[in-house]
Amino acid sequence: MRTKIVAGNWKMNKNLEETETLLTELSAKLPDTDAEVIVAPTFVNLAAAKESLDSSIIQVAAQNMHYAENGAYTGEISADMLLNIEVDIVILGHSERRSLFGESDGLLNKKVKAALGKGMKVIFCFGEELEDRKSDNHFSVVEHQLKNGLFDLDAKAWGSIILAYEPVWAIGTGETASPEQAQEMHAFIRKTISEAYNNSIADAVSILYGGSVKPSNAEEIFSKPDVDGGLIGGASLKGDDFVSIIKAI
Ligand code: PGA
Repeated sequence: MRTKIVAGNWKMNKNLEETETLLTELSAKLPDTDAEVIVAPTFVNLAAAKESLDSSIIQVAAQNMHYAENGAYTGEISADMLLNIEVDIVILGHSERRSLFGESDGLLNKKVKAALGKGMKVIFCFGEELEDRKSDNHFSVVEHQLKNGLFDLDAKAWGSIILAYEPVWAIGTGETASPEQAQEMHAFIRKTISEAYNNSIADAVSILYGGSVKPSNAEEIFSKPDVDGGLIGGASLKGDDFVSIIKAI
């Protein structure tokens, strides 16, 4: 059985008070679940988030990090800095990092290796743009993102990887991939991993779907056999919506 995961990517939202308020609400309303629940507040509120979730099963992730150990990288955050405040999960490769901040597959590959080298878990995001889907290139785009970002990792590194397939055209747009489209791509991802590595790695890796998941569509998407949970943006900012999505798994 694969680990089910619901992760909230808060992006550049919520100040300190709002972070604490939402986490208090989530802790109070958290349903009984076998799924792992993760929230990713902005860097400046990670330490406060860890503190307010001290006795909770909710885990905390960073939304990004740099690959270097330390040094002259103005504005960047290292793995050690995250680990120092006990944050050991990091989201890498989000489409906003790729498109707005120019993060390439090669850069992401370095970041993934840096995070894994420090014993962190990585939520690795990827997904095609609308033009790729319209021109029927979505499978090859996804295959390249996986290959260039991850396929030089050792087999054992895969125990620390969580995948998040997020078609760019569905992120923050209100438009969701249909459950069938999500399932089709997740099955393709598993097949691609099985060809590059083996079946047991492909079967064990959790693959989350992200892109306009909300309480009204979560259950149907999560019911698909290769969908192991979700990476939730907008709907993770409202306690009741996020809790409903956790219940849907
Ligand atoms: P969304 O964002 O749920 O607001 O579409 C998902 C994401 O960017 O991870």
